[in-house]
Amino acid sequence: MDHKVIYVAGLGLIGSSVALGIKRDHPDYTILGYNRSEKSRQIALERGIADEVTDDFTSFAPLADVIILAVPIKQTIAFIEELSRLSLKKNVLITDAGSTKFEIVKAAEHNFRHQPIRFVGSHPMAGSHKSGAIAADVNLFENAYYILTPTSLTTEETIEELKGDLSGLRARFITIDAAEHDRVTSQISHFPHVIAASLMEQAGEYAKEHEMTNHFAAGGFRDMTRIAESEAGMWASILLTNKESVLDRIEDFKQRLDSVADKIKNQDVDGIWQYFSHAKTIRQEMEIHKRGGLDSFYDIFINIPDEEDVILTILELLRGTSLVNLRINEKNRDDIHGILQISFKNAKDQAHAQKVIERHTHYKVMIQ
Ligand code: NAD
Repeated sequence: MDHKVIYVAGLGLIGSSVALGIKRDHPDYTILGYNRSEKSRQIALERGIADEVTDDFTSFAPLADVIILAVPIKQTIAFIEELSRLSLKKNVLITDAGSTKFEIVKAAEHNFRHQPIRFVGSHPMAGSHKSGAIAADVNLFENAYYILTPTSLTTEETIEELKGDLSGLRARFITIDAAEHDRVTSQISHFPHVIAASLMEQAGEYAKEHEMTNHFAAGGFRDMTRIAESEAGMWASILLTNKESVLDRIEDFKQRLDSVADKIKNQDVDGIWQYFSHAKTIRQEMEIHKRGGLDSFYDIFINIPDEEDVILTILELLRGTSLVNLRINEKNRDDIHGILQISFKNAKDQAHAQKVIERHTHYKVMIQ
């Protein structure tokens, strides 16, 4: 189909960014938008995120070839129920953006079971603490995993069609069963958020009696608790719609804590050594430090001297690129030189960075 009508319900960070991504590869598509608040509707029109907007969820739905529900998880389920009562286009393709998948997929399979509706669950695995259309970013999903969870209302063609519609997001599409998605994300995302919040809560209480706690909290503590600043409402919905898996991870972790406590009580030096050593090996094998959470960023490595303004000079040259991360690799230092590693979202910026730095400085830039 050359021209399609895409209906994005929820012009928040995710919905607006998806809409911009769709427009990038399909400028001929019509994007209709729904949003409760006036502000995001206005921004969406001004920035060309949507061609037309409404505050009535049901009004645009019958016009759409594709409907993208980009609202909180509970509201996504409520909208699925509402859509099942409307007269929609035959074979309309409906998807969502929720961070948990099983309950959404179950609701869609149940509510759409007697209708000519195609449904695929989606979880774009990128985001930020920002919200609303004001934060829309056409590059938000570039190189990020975009998880698709098929349902009984999905065929291979449905998946391919959706990937085609979303091609402008430049994301890495992966198809996985909804329940398995929720299990995996409980381990690597949902449970770590519980731990981060608990650590903050514990430290806050402790600081009331031990005032230096706040002053001494530095690098390691900061790394462990960064995600405790996430949006509380979103995390409440995530935990409550992935209850079993998260509770399972919590129970498992309690046993691990008990086992460390036993080792400490028993003065088990070897046991403690093994515990830390094993964790270190596993982390190194996962190569988490290389990825910054995402696979395959495009890295350059620059041999830089310890001189004033070196990093500022380089950053100035890289203005406007898709730079996502920057670190100094101390391990590779030999006296006066260090390796500055800079990651980009795409190969084009990686190549541009190498060229521009080598042209304007005498530093050697390597791509490994
Ligand atoms: P956001 O706050 O930027 O936008 C949420 C949108 O939902 C807004 O348009 C808001 O008006 C609308 N909304 C909220 N409650 C509503 C209600 N009761 N009725 C109607 N509309 C309502 O949030 P977001 O980050 O764009 O999140 C949207 C979805 O994407 C959520 O399901 C979230 O789980 C998922 N998600 C978020 C992230 C992230 O990091 N922000 C990442 C991946 C997936």
